[in-house]
Amino acid sequence: MVLAANPRAPLEGQHFQVVVIGGGINGVAVARQCARAGKHTLLVEQNDFASGVTSRSTRIIHGGLRYLEHGELGLVRESLRERETLLRERSHLVHPMHFLLLLNETSQRSALKVRAGLWLYQLVGGKTRRNDSNEVELKQLERALDAGHRWSFFNYEDAQCEFPERLAAEWLMEAVEAGAIVRNHMEALAVDVAHGRIRGVLLRDQITGRDQRVDAGWVINCSGPWADRVCQRSSIRMAKPMLGGVRGSHIVLPRFPGSPSAAVYTEAGDGRPIFVLPWNDQILVGTTEVADNGDPGRTVPSTDEINYLVRSVAQLFPKAKISAHSVKHSFAGIRPLPYSPENRPSAVTRRHILHNHADDGAARMLSVIGGKLTTAASMARDCARKIGLSATEPDTMAVRPGTALDPLLDDAVLEIARIGGVSEETARGMVEWHGKRAADIARMALVSAELRATICPHTSHVIAEVVEAYRREYAVTLGDVLLRRVPVALGACWSESCSREAALRIGAVLGWNEHTMGASLEAFEMERTAFLRPVGRATAALEAAAD
Ligand SMILES: Cc1cc2nc3c(=O)[nH]c(=O)nc-3n(C[C@H](O)[C@H](O)[C@H](O)COP(=O)(O)OP(=O)(O)OC[C@H]3O[C@@H](n4cnc5c(N)ncnc54)[C@H](O)[C@@H]3O)c2cc1C
Repeated sequence: MVLAANPRAPLEGQHFQVVVIGGGINGVAVARQCARAGKHTLLVEQNDFASGVTSRSTRIIHGGLRYLEHGELGLVRESLRERETLLRERSHLVHPMHFLLLLNETSQRSALKVRAGLWLYQLVGGKTRRNDSNEVELKQLERALDAGHRWSFFNYEDAQCEFPERLAAEWLMEAVEAGAIVRNHMEALAVDVAHGRIRGVLLRDQITGRDQRVDAGWVINCSGPWADRVCQRSSIRMAKPMLGGVRGSHIVLPRFPGSPSAAVYTEAGDGRPIFVLPWNDQILVGTTEVADNGDPGRTVPSTDEINYLVRSVAQLFPKAKISAHSVKHSFAGIRPLPYSPENRPSAVTRRHILHNHADDGAARMLSVIGGKLTTAASMARDCARKIGLSATEPDTMAVRPGTALDPLLDDAVLEIARIGGVSEETARGMVEWHGKRAADIARMALVSAELRATICPHTSHVIAEVVEAYRREYAVTLGDVLLRRVPVALGACWSESCSREAALRIGAVLGWNEHTMGASLEAFEMERTAFLRPVGRATAALEAAAD
């Protein structure tokens, strides 16, 4: 069930200098870059912005320490530079994170190699922040770890973006401010190609069911793991696929006694790297690497992957007695890596590739392959240059005024609380998710008690944020709001009853009738449980049998 608060004027017959297909972090970044360069730009997304791989990642903003093993110094340098820009310009969404790399006597990597790697990582990144853990933190962690091993600890610093969905929403708004037209729930059915070059794009509005055609000067295919499918439907023939999809799965656990307050990076039993991260008041554990060229919209973690992740974290923290029953939910995404059948997934480059389709009989079309959340903005600059636009590197560019407002600044939080007549906790949450725009939302909240009401009894986020999502941030469905614009449904205690309560409170303000309410709630619950998959009894039973 949808609620389209933003008017969706028909696009039929319009000409756009650039049409971007796919509204993940990469598509949003490209649309923003092209619009800022003065190009009349259209961004279309078949579901919701950031609903693809972007919301299924490990959410680390990092240089990629591991990529040094593969000699990818250039990628590490680029990623570290982007990390610093994000930390500076989006400090409300991207924050420094202290990492502890753990080795024991069975680890495949030697302490010497790790020390050398960290030295190089620090050198390339030009470390500026503290990166030592405090004694208490270390002692606590040591007590929680498997005492049967001799552990070595290595400190380093990276960053975390807990909600890349919010980063995409901010970049989307900036694209719109620069003049881009954006449409979620709008599928690109095919790129129209004639006489060796692209002419336009055929679109289907998933809300009205209406098909439309737009003319395009350039098409940028930013559909992530769907990139080959977009070409196939457009009859663009290539000698080999562009992508080799690799599924990565995560499990989410409640915090457990002894759970780390720093991010832990270590080796699983098979030597693969594994992260155990504090995230959104929970613990995020990932990932796996499984070849997967199936439908990216339907990918889910397999029972084997869940068991592997549970076993890995249980072996690391045996006293916590973690089992499949402990898992709150699991989710998976497909890494859209460059087709590289001769390499192991971990050895395939994470660098982005811009595939020019001129040789495939579709001149003026590019496909973006691979990349990372961390490097989406630099990929967008590369892409702009490829189509003849100028794009300045951030280190030679004056820092934009930005959207950041530091939630750690108590004065800023108190000011938002005062403006909106809301609690300090609500104000801090608004600043964390909306940066400087928190002031506008707070002004809206002041208007009525209904707008100041919390979305459900367990969150401090309020209905005014939901209204803002529908009015200004292009949310259309309840899922767009509660999973991505105001992502309270990713929270530790969210349950079906929270969904029901949220729908009631939101519906009361937006004037939903009983039918709209029921249909919105049903569609939302279906989307939530398809994405954040509860770990079934079967998985838990299998694990018990294996013990
Ligand atoms: C398990 C895992 C962990 C990761 N961890 C990290 C990490 O910690 N740090 C990091 O920097 N990177 C990480 N990444 C990589 C990062 O998440 C991706 O590189 C990035 O999100 C890709 O963004 P995208 O925009 O290309 O793809 P997506 O986010 O998938 O966006 C593509 C969009 O295109 C849309 N689309 C598809 N077909 C059509 C069509 N026909 N019409 C209209 N729209 C269409 C889809 O619906 C989708 O929303 C991880 C990836 C995975 C899978």
